[in-house]
Amino acid sequence: TPAIYWIRKDLRLTDNRALLAACEDERPVIPVFIREDDSAGALGRAQAWWLERSLARLSETYEQRGARLILKSGDPADVIFALIEETGAQSVFWNRRYTPDGIETDTALKKKLKDADLQVESFAGHILHEPSKFKTKSGGPYKVYTPFWKAFSAEASVPDPLDAPEKLKAAKKMPESEKLSDWGLYPGKPDWAADFDALWEPGETGARDRLERFIDEIAEHYASSRDRPDIEATSMLSPHLALGEISPATIWHRINRAKNLSSENRKKFLQELVWRDFCHHLLFHAPALATKNWNDRFDGFEWADDDKALAAWRKGETGYPIVDAGMRQLWREGTMHNRVRMIAASFLIKDLMIDWRSGEEWFRDTLVDADPASNPANWQWVAGSGADASPFFRIFNPVLQGEKFDPKGDYVRRYVPELDAMPAKHIHAPFDAPKEVLEEAGVTLGKTYPKPLVDHKAARKRALAAFEKVKG
Ligand code: FAD
Repeated sequence: TPAIYWIRKDLRLTDNRALLAACEDERPVIPVFIREDDSAGALGRAQAWWLERSLARLSETYEQRGARLILKSGDPADVIFALIEETGAQSVFWNRRYTPDGIETDTALKKKLKDADLQVESFAGHILHEPSKFKTKSGGPYKVYTPFWKAFSAEASVPDPLDAPEKLKAAKKMPESEKLSDWGLYPGKPDWAADFDALWEPGETGARDRLERFIDEIAEHYASSRDRPDIEATSMLSPHLALGEISPATIWHRINRAKNLSSENRKKFLQELVWRDFCHHLLFHAPALATKNWNDRFDGFEWADDDKALAAWRKGETGYPIVDAGMRQLWREGTMHNRVRMIAASFLIKDLMIDWRSGEEWFRDTLVDADPASNPANWQWVAGSGADASPFFRIFNPVLQGEKFDPKGDYVRRYVPELDAMPAKHIHAPFDAPKEVLEEAGVTLGKTYPKPLVDHKAARKRALAAFEKVKG
């Protein structure tokens, strides 16, 4: 009898334990992706764009190997029991997910399947180690990254990635699939296609190519350049990881095997990759990570209720070029350089004093790598409300950050064309530039480029005063 393999954020055939278990001993397999109607399956618009393409590729890959991807909508338990009834399948496999909603759905379904005397098994693979694996000496979760990394590296064993099954067997009675085009996952608005298509190749092949290119051309200056948004210096693997088109174990072992990497670059990269595990560790132990301050002292923080400022931040019209470049990169390309994410997030939270949850929500909707663990964990990290947080009083100065990490202003020019002719010396603070410089560059503040929304120095003072009240 056939087995059902329930696909979630694991849109790959390589290193996929659930798929391998399903097709063991040439058992016919029914790979099914379910468009869940509740929050467990909810995705932002940018990731919906990605998912649509990734599912199309995955469907082709299954066809090539002799199986067929089945698409269904609805409550997973209803869908799976209907498939069992229709096909006579006796077993169900999936790879684990770690969001609170996901865990709840999966646990309930597992019980239901077991109660019905069906075989059900789940597997690890979305992160390097299970989120509950590492415990502090006192038995609790890690709240600080460095000791987590130490515990992680002491473990040393990341399971070897497994090959994709060469051939798959379709079930004799294959169920009907819904049509991807009928789903309208990404309705075509906003019109992202041009810029997204030029930059991204969703799917397993795209993920593997990205990794190889990173190793061949970029990784050898990773440690020294990863903070520079003007240089191509990071892997851009995050959206592929977010939807599981490549497993972190595949990346881990491939990076360890790459001969051209210095130990410094290798270690730095692996440390970043393990941040992803750390974020999942935090989410696992604090399921309300996206909605609740980890540190409840922040519950009394007096956030500003300023829709106009929030809208300007989203559009990249704050008058601070590095922030605006980041926010426009996000809108155009569905991503933003990590350093600039920190600067833009700090600006929203501290200069505008807008609740970090508004920023988290916007990122969730517009990032192709939006991740239910990494996004809130990093937002709380910047806010200072998180477990391992940068302290609230560490407030990025957007001008100095720009000058340090985008020294020639190339990153700003790429995304804020109205500042194209500004000289490097003034590009990060056009509001302080002499009149002649602005004139020569064709910049009229308030007309061709916005005046700053706030004065950073004053805003900083305001934020620190608000922080004093909750500091305790
Ligand atoms: P690389 O530098 O090549 O790093 C390799 C991999 O390590 C990344 O693909 C990613 O999986 C992981 N990684 C690196 N840094 C982090 C980090 N700080 N936290 C967790 N994992 C990390 N990352 C997401 O994947 N999804 C998000 O929704 C997300 N939201 C963020 C929100 C804010 C406010 C901030 C400051 C950071 C956020 N990050 C998020 C982390 C980081 O910015 C991205 O992972 C990184 O920019 C992706 O680019 P890359 O793949 O080229 O990274």
